[in-house]
Amino acid sequence: MSNCLFCKIIKKEIPAEIVFEDEGIIAIRDINPQAPVHLLVIPKKHFSTVLDIQEEDHELIGCVFSVANHLAIEEGVDRSGFRLVVNCGEGAGQSVFHIHYHLLGGRPLQWPPG
Ligand code: 5GP
Ligand code: ZN
Repeated sequence: MSNCLFCKIIKKEIPAEIVFEDEGIIAIRDINPQAPVHLLVIPKKHFSTVLDIQEEDHELIGCVFSVANHLAIEEGVDRSGFRLVVNCGEGAGQSVFHIHYHLLGGRPLQWPPG
């Protein structure tokens, strides 16, 4: 999608601190971190929201969780606890309409989220 911020980051048209990349997924540090560790795990395929995920995408989305696990260990939050969260729709706080999984950790996380 030509006008999508995360597609532009994936194409390296906009800089970001990339912490992981393979052929299907990129992970970057959030520009406005809400916790000491705040990464965004982003499938390279453009989906506006998680509602667009189809059966053919299940393997790719499964890989998101493997990448998140790997990064949680690398960032040292696997034992202290972390949260993997995706906002769907403006009402849930989604502001970038290319799906991304927030990986948050490094501080106590309250429940329920606001
Ligand atoms: P959402 O609100 O859609 O769930 O999350 C979007 C996230 O993207 C926010 O946490 C926001 O800080 C982050 N973000 C927005 N623009 C940029 C950017 O240009 N670079 C990076 N690294 N993160 C961004
Ligand atoms: Zn996109």
